[in-house]
Amino acid sequence: MVSRVLTLLPAYSRHLLLEGKQNLVIVHSLRMSSKLLSENVWDSDPELFKIIGKEKQRQCRGLEMIASENFTSLAVLQCLSSCLHNKYAEGLPGDRYYGGNQFIDQIERLAQKRTLETYRLDPEEWGVNVQPYSGSPANFAVYTGIVEPHGRIMGLDLPDGGHLTHGFFTPTKKISATSIFFESMPYKVHPETGLIDYDMLLKTARLFKPKIIIAGVSCYSRALDYKKFKEICNEVGAYLMSDMAHISGLVAAGVTANPFEYSDIVTTTTHKSLRGPRAGVIFFRKGVKSVNAKGEKILYDFENRINEAVFPGLQGGPHENTIAAIATTMKQANTPEFKQYAQNILNNAKRLSDGLQKKGYKVVTGGTDLHLLLLDVRSAGLTGAKAEYILEEISIACNKNTVPGDKSAKSPSGIRLGTPALTTRGLVEKDIDVVVDFIDSGLKLGKEIGEKSGPKLVDFKAAVHSEEFNGRVACLREEVENFSAKFPLPGYETY
Ligand SMILES: *Cc1c(COP(=O)(O)O)cnc(C)c1O
Repeated sequence: MVSRVLTLLPAYSRHLLLEGKQNLVIVHSLRMSSKLLSENVWDSDPELFKIIGKEKQRQCRGLEMIASENFTSLAVLQCLSSCLHNKYAEGLPGDRYYGGNQFIDQIERLAQKRTLETYRLDPEEWGVNVQPYSGSPANFAVYTGIVEPHGRIMGLDLPDGGHLTHGFFTPTKKISATSIFFESMPYKVHPETGLIDYDMLLKTARLFKPKIIIAGVSCYSRALDYKKFKEICNEVGAYLMSDMAHISGLVAAGVTANPFEYSDIVTTTTHKSLRGPRAGVIFFRKGVKSVNAKGEKILYDFENRINEAVFPGLQGGPHENTIAAIATTMKQANTPEFKQYAQNILNNAKRLSDGLQKKGYKVVTGGTDLHLLLLDVRSAGLTGAKAEYILEEISIACNKNTVPGDKSAKSPSGIRLGTPALTTRGLVEKDIDVVVDFIDSGLKLGKEIGEKSGPKLVDFKAAVHSEEFNGRVACLREEVENFSAKFPLPGYETY
């Protein structure tokens, strides 16, 4: 039993078993008389534990190139599984609805302070709310606090690289709650260049007069021009909300354009390039907004509106274990080592982009300034869905994605490839060259299979597993997994 446990547990729990070190969770449970409360999950629920083990194996064996994913640190995993999980703390530090929050207050204040420090913000000018459960609730809290019901919002269209929460709807259906409870109008990328069409945004914004314009992307490989966004906002009387969910690690490290200089509000997730827990954060300007003709100071009114939208507007008790994990993430992100990590993400993405282009693949916008790229696989004889499938079959995880000019979001022509997770596992540029070869081999094999199977995805999938091809697929998968096994996964020392 112990050896099985050792291979499946995070390293910190293994040490507990080996050295009998105190851990609040486990020591607590050992003293309990009730079996329900005291049993380890591997004893009490082997059915579940086995599946968790398989997921861990999957994460170790494959190459994780989903641009929004990362492997968080041991310290974050420890915070998440700590006793802080047990506490109700509705309200803000110093103003809670429950007793017993003296230490929780210290933790949340530490998270707030470190978050502002990491982004080099003056607490006189910027406030922060670290309670949103994730990125989507953070965005919805901003709209709820700042925009009246059915007020107007503009964000980059989902098929063009925006996020669902920026207001996605189709001709027949309002998909995102942002489009149900507010009126959303998309802006677009230029169908040929793949770059955001700022001129069109300005023209449309003049007519639509939104309350908020969102500068933020989930699949776009170029730095945003926040200055231009702010000029457009100023012209139409809108607030600029930057959603830096994908790039918050890069912004913290100072290796990409900084949205804070021009934004009124900034939202983020903490689990993507920032490598923290699955959570959301909202930053808002505070203090003096302007001085009017009479010399009176006009103040920003975001603080209460946003804080109250988060709680009691939309959420209940904050997840203080996660907030502790944010605190420790911000400490990590404020180090030279993290800065180097972020720079390596960029170096790896550029190497990936150059390598694929050298092999003749088409990268949308011709390259990347960020942590991801969008590969147009049409000229490689594939669809996004087939490319995603064949790569998954050789243990490379990525996702299909629309490319500019795609007619339907349901049959996208590209795949999105990101480097944050691989960089966390320690891959450097020369390793990325190997990854480029794997992707190239996978896509070429996919093309060959597609030529045999015909256009339908079901037939393609069947052909991947057919006698004719499954041997070659398995061979390539083994090569990828052997390569991947050389790179450690944080928190898990053995596979
Ligand atoms: C990922 C993402 C979000 C939402 O984050 P969740 O934590 O998945 O809710 C919001 N905005 C952008 C731009 C994102 O990429």
